[in-house]
Amino acid sequence: MAGDGAPHEDHAQRLERLRAEVTAALRRRDLADDGEERGDGHHHPAEAATDADLRERDLRQQLRWREREARLQAALAAIDAGTYGICVDCGSEIPEGRLRVLPDSVRCVPCQRVASRRR
Ligand SMILES: [Zn+2]
Repeated sequence: MAGDGAPHEDHAQRLERLRAEVTAALRRRDLADDGEERGDGHHHPAEAATDADLRERDLRQQLRWREREARLQAALAAIDAGTYGICVDCGSEIPEGRLRVLPDSVRCVPCQRVASRRR
């Protein structure tokens, strides 16, 4: 271990921790779903509607988590490859302050703005 002051070490640790959190949340959700599916079988129509709503919101949340997991994974891979903190679009360095707030960002601020507008 390089000790403190290694420029990317704390990013890597943070990313690992965030990824572990997302993975754990997703796993809990999977288990919860499983239990529900196998549930005791009495369904009230009113509850079913609420369930559907909840399930849809859940799915969207899960999708966001999975996207986040993928981004964190990509950022960790970039650290390994030595390309972490470099904008994927223009190749300039992403400011340290931005990486602290958004450790999984792969673009500098101007490029991110362009990319979000393209969506
Ligand atoms: Zn850029």
